[in-house]
Amino acid sequence: MAVAWDACNRSGSMSPPLHETAEHATLRAEARRFAKTHIAPHALAWEEACEFPRELHGQMAEAGLLGVGYPEEYGGGGGDLSHALACAEELIIEGRSVGTVVGAGSHGIALPPILACGTEAQKRRFVPPVLRGEKIAALAITEPGGGSDVASLATRAVRDGDDYVVTGTKTFITSGCRADLVTTAVRTGGPGHGGVSLIVIERGTPGFTVSKKLDKMGWWASDTAELSFQDCRVPVANLLGDENAGFVPIMMSFASERLLISGSCVAIATLAYRESVAYARERQAFGKSLSGFQVIRHKLADMAARIAAARALTNETLVRHLRGESVAGLAAMAKNTATDMCSFVCDQAVQIHGGYGYMREYVVERLFRDARLYPIGGGTREIMNEIISKVEGY
Ligand SMILES: Cc1cc2nc3c(=O)[nH]c(=O)nc-3n(C[C@H](O)[C@H](O)[C@H](O)COP(=O)(O)OP(=O)(O)OC[C@H]3O[C@@H](n4cnc5c(N)ncnc54)[C@H](O)[C@@H]3O)c2cc1C
Repeated sequence: MAVAWDACNRSGSMSPPLHETAEHATLRAEARRFAKTHIAPHALAWEEACEFPRELHGQMAEAGLLGVGYPEEYGGGGGDLSHALACAEELIIEGRSVGTVVGAGSHGIALPPILACGTEAQKRRFVPPVLRGEKIAALAITEPGGGSDVASLATRAVRDGDDYVVTGTKTFITSGCRADLVTTAVRTGGPGHGGVSLIVIERGTPGFTVSKKLDKMGWWASDTAELSFQDCRVPVANLLGDENAGFVPIMMSFASERLLISGSCVAIATLAYRESVAYARERQAFGKSLSGFQVIRHKLADMAARIAAARALTNETLVRHLRGESVAGLAAMAKNTATDMCSFVCDQAVQIHGGYGYMREYVVERLFRDARLYPIGGGTREIMNEIISKVEGY
């Protein structure tokens, strides 16, 4: 449903964040244009088909959207996490397919560890083809035996000459079915976080198979896979950083991932809110539009207020992160605030749409399902509270 949005958002609570510059505005305009042209017209079909065309990666690269926030020397477009967040926000709001945006963006969690601890040769080999849209990257940390307790992961990598022999299973891996390279957390040492390493495992390596494409509640257009490694020989040259030093880069990447998740939740909720405002204006009941009922107006007001609050905390945390401050606690707070807000707003959006809100052809129906992932993925709500407790010192 088309909404003349600038006319709606008179309070300015959803205007671009204060830290953004003209550069962000240009990027937002391009992301909006791309999403309206290349994603939105296919959103429902791709979600229902549970996949989007691989070519989209190349189209996004051509439009300069795949490399946002990545260094130019490795084929990126420059900028930082604030640019990546602005871009993701527009792609979600205007593209109307969260599954497509997260699938096309899986490199956003797979590449940072390579850039953080890879050698110059590894960065030049792995990063540019992904940012050109030629290769697809995924991050594999979670295992069937557990995702929250990263330090206990069981996939083993045993050194044998110039190879590591990797054995184990990873699950819930975004873009795992189509990934050409998988940044994988493995155990090279003893128990605990001191025995964890990161290694890039490439498609086609003997012993590496996609054991299952998983069916899931939301994010339908993205693929989510179980990956199996059976005596999979991976060259030592693919090890990122020192052996047994993988845990810290994993943890360091989490702050950015959680900010990206918070920003995505704000975008999803914004879309659900806009749809609800438009619907409430058009839908008639008892001789007037739904927005003529105070109870509906107050629902919308609550939605707007919670979005604005989550947005403010996300942006404050983002700016502090970009200044180099340690934001582990704030990022966990932002994630919980934004994910709770997103679940609330999407639930209210379905309610305002009545029976139509329960129908698959209405975008709020799938946003409601998409929203459920966010208190789980990227560190659960409970783990965020553990981090907050540690940082706060109780
Ligand atoms: C659609 C989707 C996409 C995903 N994409 C990826 C990906 O690309 N790469 C990847 O590596 N992973 C991915 N994940 C995995 C995701 O990060 C994990 O599901 C998440 O970290 C939780 O791990 P788990 O599912 O094993 O739950 P568990 O760790 O088994 O937790 C189960 C429950 O117990 C709670 N719990 C666990 N420990 C504690 C504790 N100490 N205190 C209190 N409560 C606790 C949890 O909060 C949760 O409620 C994805 C998941 C989904 C669903």
